This record gives sequence, C-alpha cells and structure tokens, in this order.
Amino acid sequence: MKYQLLPKLRWGLVILFLVSSLVFANLAYSNNSEFNRLEQILTGYGFIVKQEIPPKINNSGLRPYGLMNSKTKTIWINPVVFELGNARSVLIHEAVHAAQTCAGKGQISLVNLDLEPPQFTRPYFMRYHSYRREIEAQAYTVQVQPDSLAIVIELLEQNCS
Ligand SMILES: [Zn+2]
Repeated sequence: MKYQLLPKLRWGLVILFLVSSLVFANLAYSNNSEFNRLEQILTGYGFIVKQEIPPKINNSGLRPYGLMNSKTKTIWINPVVFELGNARSVLIHEAVHAAQTCAGKGQISLVNLDLEPPQFTRPYFMRYHSYRREIEAQAYTVQVQPDSLAIVIELLEQNCS
C-alpha cells in the first residue's frame, strides 16, 4: 500500500508545483506595471499588442521575441519573454519601431534621436543591412538606456500624436 501511494503523492506534488508556477508567473506578469503602461500607450496610438508567438518572418523557422508589422500596426510579444524576464525591454524595442512607423506615416523611418548606439549593442544590429541596420540601431540604442521607458514614451508622443 505504501509503495503504491508514493508515486501518486509524487504526481500530486508535480501537479501542485505546476499550478503554483502558473500562479506565480501570472503574478509576475500582472505586476509588470511598466509593460502594461507602455502597452496601453501603444493601444492609445492605434497599435495592437498581441502576447502571442510571432508569425514566421523567413524560412529559418526561428520565432523572434518581438515583431512589429507596420502595415497592420500589430506588435507581437512572444510569451516566452515573460519567463525570461525581458518582456519590458522587448516591448520597448518594438515600441521604438512603432514610433518609427508613425514617423514615416506607415513606412518605417528613422526618428530624431540624439543617442549613439553603445558599443555592446553593435552585434545586435550589425547583422542587418543598409537602412534596416539604422532602424534596428535606434531600437537597440533606446532599449538599453536606463531611462528607456521615458525615452520611448517621448518618441511615441513626438511622432504618433
Ligand atoms: Zn527590431
């Protein structure tokens, strides 16, 4: 009897662990007030923020952490970033692209930004080419600033209002 109960107990603990992780993941998610604030601002400017796995962008099958479609003004935030703890910076990156979309009236264009890309961000945007490289350089530059949220909110105000 003892030996039959033990595996059941173990499964019970596993299930309890899974349920409590979900609860804690949810708590961490709802406590992410800066994420929610930026999401609300983006929604106010007519962007749609989807917490879904982004569609495939090429044949690599890789799904990015975040993606923005400037034609449909849709931003995808891959739910995995909530587990990784970088949801805020991924949304800030995509919000820069949103401001760039407003700047170009639907065509993604550079925004006015008086910041140089920090050296350590170079590998992230150097893999892109020509104009796209400059577009990504702006997004990575803002994303890594200590006051990134304030900067991106200002960029959205300047370009989307
Ligand atoms: Zn980007």
